[in-house]
Amino acid sequence: MKDLFQKFKEALKHLIEAVSYKTLSESELEEELFNWQLKLIECDVSYPVAEYIAREVGKELIGAKVKRFSENIELLVKRAIENAILKIISEAGDLDLINLIEHRIKSGEIPVKMVFVGVNGSGKTTTIAKIAYMLKKRGILSILACSDTFRAGAEEQLAYHARKLGLKMIKHKYGADPAAVAYDAAHHAEAHRIPVVLIDTAGRMQTDRDLMDELKKIVRVISSDLVVFVGDALAGNDALFQAEKFNEEVGVNASILTKVDADVKGGTAISVLYATKKPIIYLGVGPNYEDLVRFTPQWLISQLLSE
Ligand code: GDP
Repeated sequence: MKDLFQKFKEALKHLIEAVSYKTLSESELEEELFNWQLKLIECDVSYPVAEYIAREVGKELIGAKVKRFSENIELLVKRAIENAILKIISEAGDLDLINLIEHRIKSGEIPVKMVFVGVNGSGKTTTIAKIAYMLKKRGILSILACSDTFRAGAEEQLAYHARKLGLKMIKHKYGADPAAVAYDAAHHAEAHRIPVVLIDTAGRMQTDRDLMDELKKIVRVISSDLVVFVGDALAGNDALFQAEKFNEEVGVNASILTKVDADVKGGTAISVLYATKKPIIYLGVGPNYEDLVRFTPQWLISQLLSE
């Protein structure tokens, strides 16, 4: 993952240099912080988040009255950013998927039904396959459901992964009721004591209204346990708006960001966390089954703030 979040790091380096090597008046400092805030926005950090982080860093720099030329400035700035990001992450809460599933297996309350939502191309199907692979490696079987009956080709794509992973997949005919597919999969899992149901959904229908209504119907019909928003980190602001929309309409419990391996900006995660107030649970860091990492605050902070 060469150059991961490079643009974010460059902007930060520039700010640290500006506040370290010159003696700035308070208004000059404010101007530097504002310029940095604009650079953060270019890095897909949403406006309110960029404003908040810049303000927190400003408070530290003005309040501490540290000596210029001091290497402590870098530490001070990084600590202020870290604290601001940690606050946003902690407000979004945490969700340990494996823990939740293992707990449910122990208590016999299975299957755990997960509905994956997100626009076409965001990486939903690939992410479902990655989750199924991760669970299988832990000895937890899942069943895949193709509730995208709108897009021709969706079935074959999911079926390919089901075959490769040796898992059962439930599908109906093209154009069938997506909620009925999810219902069948949940029913099959219950009858065969399969602990997890992973439901792939459409990313587009005739209208956005149709799509949202359909997703709500799936969630209601199967009484799903988790709705997971899958967003493309490279889509930046678009991913943020999608997350907000799916969260408002369907209700999202957690997010997974994909294509983080190709992200030079780095702001999407913080923006999505801030907008949804729901945790990010995993990150897609490549196209292969193993390319899924657990999202932790430490991971994000060390990637954003490391040299
Ligand atoms: P869907 O339409 O939302 O189901 O998206 P797909 O699962 O078909 O993924 C779209 C494309 O993104 C495919 O070419 C995937 O290989 C690719 N992709 C998905 N996740 C990742 C990721 O984390 N990193 C990279 N580099 N590519 C990914």
